[in-house]
Amino acid sequence: MIKGIFPIVKLRNIETPFYYYDMELLNNTLKTVNTEAGKYGFEPHYAIKANANPSILKTIAKAGLGADCVSGGEVDAAIKAGFPASKIVFAGVGKTDWEINLALDNDIFCFNAESIPELEVINELAGKKGKTAHVKLRVNPNVDAHTHHYITTGLSENKFGFNLEDLDDVIAKIKTLPNLEFIGLHFHIGSQITDLSSYENLCVRINELQDEFEKKGIQVKNINIGGGLGINYEHPNHMPIADFESYFHLFGKHLKLRQGQRLHCEPGRSIVAQCGSLITKVTYVKKGKSKQFAIVDAGMTDLIRPALYEAYHRIENITSDKEPQKYDVVGPICESSDVFLKDTDLNETQRGDLLAIRSAGAYGEIMASRYNLRKLPGSVISTEI
Ligand SMILES: *Cc1c(COP(=O)(O)O)cnc(C)c1O
Repeated sequence: MIKGIFPIVKLRNIETPFYYYDMELLNNTLKTVNTEAGKYGFEPHYAIKANANPSILKTIAKAGLGADCVSGGEVDAAIKAGFPASKIVFAGVGKTDWEINLALDNDIFCFNAESIPELEVINELAGKKGKTAHVKLRVNPNVDAHTHHYITTGLSENKFGFNLEDLDDVIAKIKTLPNLEFIGLHFHIGSQITDLSSYENLCVRINELQDEFEKKGIQVKNINIGGGLGINYEHPNHMPIADFESYFHLFGKHLKLRQGQRLHCEPGRSIVAQCGSLITKVTYVKKGKSKQFAIVDAGMTDLIRPALYEAYHRIENITSDKEPQKYDVVGPICESSDVFLKDTDLNETQRGDLLAIRSAGAYGEIMASRYNLRKLPGSVISTEI
């Protein structure tokens, strides 16, 4: 039987587990982003760390988005996928010399810098090449994103960015570094943010900061608000596209951009999460005293989010239409945390059935590991089968 979005007959013949990417949904998501950001002239840079599958990257580059990178490997992947260097930003607290050199050689748009020692090294390496590096300062705005503590990044206790009270000194320091040009401020307060009032607080903080800067005669060309827009993990079928309309509207309404200023953003999860599902085969159904387990051939090595953040992913049996029963869906890895979901309703399940673990397009395939010497999961692009 064919259920929902999955071409079951084709998927049946592919070795499991694998990620299945629905390119129609990805393209519709990108269209929405371009329309909604376009209303205000905002410039989105896709955060590559969410998913760097080459077909996904090419599709996003083709749609005209820029790229947000956090490593030399990502800068390289962005260039190879066709993102123009002039739309690549490079963030991260620990950029090494080869990564900085790679970015300089490719003339990327800017470095999002996080410390004074980093600024000094970028200045030195740019000088050796006779280049001027554009830098934005990542500012820690001390805004709570109201999300899981592992994915909150904008509090002063986090390792990221400069504290607000140090900014004057940092900007004075940049003036002494001849191969750097200060072009803007960068913020990123966390991930999977569904309470948009966190972003309203960010706008207030940025507006205050801009007022102070104006008094001091400091020019800021660019404001970058990072990523973090959440998606609906509970209802991927009803809410397949994140609420980009409200998200961009909020910044259009609350953020006071100055004359000639450009707003950049870095959505990752909200672009790719819903288009991806991890498809896994049921190896055994094990009946315990009070529970039954669907033991599947995917594990935490293929999708680590449930084990790492206790994240919820909806699971569907896409090859059974029998009456639902309760199951714990677990993987084969020798760790107690290798559980995808407990006490979930699945259509009555038997060995050989295919399950779809939904909303897995972000921080799924890219975080896979070979722990237990397992194979890495494959990937299947809907338009290529
Ligand atoms: C992770 C990250 C993003 C993307 O976050 P999402 O929650 O996936 O949208 C954007 N910017 C920076 C600096 C990041 O570290």
